[in-house]
Amino acid sequence: MAYPRIVAALAAALSLTGAAQAQDYPNRQITMVVPFSAGGPTDTVARLVAEKMSSDLGQQIVVENVGGAGGTLGAGNVAKAEPDGYTVLLHHIGMATSATLYRKLAYDPLTAFDYVGLVTEVPMVVVARKDFEPADFKGFTEYVKANADKLTLANAGIGSASHLCGMMLMQALEAPLVTVPYKGTGPAMTDLLGGQTDIMCDQTTNTTQQIKGGTIKAYATTTTERLPLFPDLPTATEAGLPALQVGIWHGIYTPKGTPAEVNERLSQSLQKALADEGVSKAMADLGTAPEPAENATPAALKAKLESEIARWKPVIESAGVYAD
Ligand code: ASP
Repeated sequence: MAYPRIVAALAAALSLTGAAQAQDYPNRQITMVVPFSAGGPTDTVARLVAEKMSSDLGQQIVVENVGGAGGTLGAGNVAKAEPDGYTVLLHHIGMATSATLYRKLAYDPLTAFDYVGLVTEVPMVVVARKDFEPADFKGFTEYVKANADKLTLANAGIGSASHLCGMMLMQALEAPLVTVPYKGTGPAMTDLLGGQTDIMCDQTTNTTQQIKGGTIKAYATTTTERLPLFPDLPTATEAGLPALQVGIWHGIYTPKGTPAEVNERLSQSLQKALADEGVSKAMADLGTAPEPAENATPAALKAKLESEIARWKPVIESAGVYAD
């Protein structure tokens, strides 16, 4: 019965290799996959933390944008990548919602990844093209209900944050708008600015500069409190749509099987990046804030993903909206 011994020796050798790899990690460039287009809100968050983490880790972190299928394409690539810490994923709430929205996903969000930590939770704002007729959120809701079949709602595909928020908006207003999917809300914003689409719901990390510049119109936030950045903007709740409440949390993942020491090293680096004053300031300017150190940990992200999958499952199932 030499076979089990060979297996045991192999396993020991492999774990030694893993330990040695973890010890001198990182010794080359790291790829951070963002499952949406460059220039969008998830990309903005990723680039902010990647730059600081690069200096701490002493290796460059290159952001790679793999947009498409509401974030599931990029996440799927990372699920299949070598679990060596050189490919990581920065994804948002879509990691949880896609678990139910896609009945035939190529990976299981709950078992295909290891965890690094939570990054930030970003509010959303309901926005429209600059010349959209209604003056306030009450007028917006009436106008959208009356013109549902003529209006377009941009999103970043099924499973994206903008899709989730748009779905909640349409449900709350009982207005089935024509949806226009993009590979990210970076390009979707370009079309909204050009007036090719009418409405979008997106993270403040993508909408703040445009709202301030007056190049789009803002109607309501999806937060419980008004945003300090836009004190005059009502929350959807105070404007009569309490169902429209959602925060877009972001986390960093590695492929399942990544050595725990590597995830821990990345988590420490993430904590340092989030404690950086420049990062806090940049986030505050975009309407968000870094997660505290205790949340930028593998355990906190794992718990968040598990609870969020459980939270959104019944909501999505009762809406009966699926990607397939
Ligand atoms: N904000 C997008 C979403 O709706 C994604 C992006 O382009 O970052 O999920």
